[in-house]
Amino acid sequence: MKERIYHEELILFKAIMMNKSIIKFIDDKLNESIEVLKKLCRIPSVAAKNEGLLEAANLVEKMLQDAGLETEVHLTSGAPVVTGWKDVGAKRTLLFYDHYDVQPAEPFDLWDSPPFEPEIRNDRLYGRGVADNKGDITTRIWTLKAFQETNTDLPVNVRFVIEGEEEIGSIHLPEYIEKNTDFITADGGIWEFGGAGIDGRQEAWLGLKGIFFVELEVQRLSRDVHSSTACILPSAASRLTWALNSLKDESSRILIEGFYENIKPLTDSELEAIRKIDLHEEQFKKVYGIEEYLNGLTGDELKKAYYGTPTCNICGLTSGYQGKGSMTVLPAKASCKVDFRLVEGMHPNDIHKKLRQHLDDRGFSDIKFSYFEGYPAAKTPINHPFVKIIENANKRVFGDMVIHPTSPGSGPLYLFNKYVPMVSIGCGDYESKAHSPNESIVIENFRKAMNRIVAVMEEMSKW
Ligand SMILES: [Zn+2]
Repeated sequence: MKERIYHEELILFKAIMMNKSIIKFIDDKLNESIEVLKKLCRIPSVAAKNEGLLEAANLVEKMLQDAGLETEVHLTSGAPVVTGWKDVGAKRTLLFYDHYDVQPAEPFDLWDSPPFEPEIRNDRLYGRGVADNKGDITTRIWTLKAFQETNTDLPVNVRFVIEGEEEIGSIHLPEYIEKNTDFITADGGIWEFGGAGIDGRQEAWLGLKGIFFVELEVQRLSRDVHSSTACILPSAASRLTWALNSLKDESSRILIEGFYENIKPLTDSELEAIRKIDLHEEQFKKVYGIEEYLNGLTGDELKKAYYGTPTCNICGLTSGYQGKGSMTVLPAKASCKVDFRLVEGMHPNDIHKKLRQHLDDRGFSDIKFSYFEGYPAAKTPINHPFVKIIENANKRVFGDMVIHPTSPGSGPLYLFNKYVPMVSIGCGDYESKAHSPNESIVIENFRKAMNRIVAVMEEMSKW
C-alpha cells in the first residue's frame, strides 16, 4: 500500500515537473509563438476567393513538422486537408479539428490596420483569421512544440485534421473523412472555435446546428420593362415575396408541412444544464438594440429556442432598382438567399424536398432553387466523460466555464461525431469580431489557451 502511494506521488510529482517546464517554455517563448501566428495571418487564405490556400496549407504542414509531428497533405477536389500526428503509444488519443482558410476581409476601409498585416494594439492582436481560426491552430501546434523542445513525453497521442474550406461549407471535407475514419477515431477532440463570453468566463460548445442553405430565383419576363406595364405583365419581385411570405407566420412558426416532425427534443440532462446557463438577456438586448426578443421570449423559453429550435431566415433579397432616386421599372428577375438552421433529427435533403413540395403545392413552381447545400446537426452528449475532462482542465487555467449543449451556429461536426466526442474551446472572446472588420484576440487568452491544452492532455491521460 505504502509503495502504491509512493508510486502515485511520483507520477504526480513528474506531472507537476512536466507541467512546469512546458508552461515555462510557453511563457518564455510567447513572442515567438505570436510571430508564428502573425506569419500565418499574413497569408490571405480566403476560401471564397480560392486565394492563398496552398500557401497556408504548406505553412501549417511546416508548423506541424516543427512541433515534431508526422504529416500528410491529402488532395481533394478543392483545398487540401493537412493532417499531422504523433503516436506515443499512450492509452488515449486527442484529435484537433481546425481550418486554415479565413473569411474575406471586406470592407477593408472599416479596418483600423490592414487585415493581412497583423498588429498588436492594447494587448490584442488584430488581423483577419487571428480568432477564426489561425489563433487556435497556433496555440494547439505550439503546445506540442513546447513538449518537443523540452524533451517531454506526450501524455496522449495527438492527431490534427486541418482543412481549407470551412468558411465555404467544408464542401470537400467529406472526401477526406470517408477515406480516413480510422484516423479521426479518437477518445476526445477539440473543435475549431471558442473562447470567453460576454461575462469573461470561458465557454465550451458541445454541438453545432445543421444548415440548409438555398438560393431561390424567379424570372417572369425576358427583360426588365417599363413599370407602366405592371397592369398586364407578371412581377418576379411580387412572386418571390408571396412565396417567401408563405414560409412562416408572424410568430416565426415555419409553415412548411412536416418541417418539425423529425426533431429530437433537448434531453432532460440538456434541459437541466441550460437552466443553469445565464444568456445575459438584458445585456444582449442593449447589444442588439431591441426592446424584446422574438415573441417576447425570456428565461428558460428563450434558452430552449436558442439551443433547440430550427430557423428559416432570409439572408438577402435582390430585385429591380435599388440605386439613388426613383426608377420605375418592372424587374424581370428576383432572387433571395434563405438559410434554415437545423436541429438534431432534421436532415437537409428532407427539408429540401419539403420546401420544394411546399412551393409547388401553393402554385410557386416558377420559383427555382439556383443553389443549395447543407448538412445535419450533431452533438456530444453532455454527460460524456470527455466533457468533464475539458471542464477540469479549464478550471486549472481559467476557472469555471459555461457548458453549452450546442452552439446556435453550424459546422460539419456530423462528419466527426460518430468517431470522436468533440468539444469546442478556443482563444477567442466576446470582442473577437470573427468574420467582421478588426478581428482580434487577447494575447493573454492566447497564452492561457496553450496552458489549457497541456491541462487537457494531462487530464486525459488520467482517464
Ligand atoms: Zn468562421
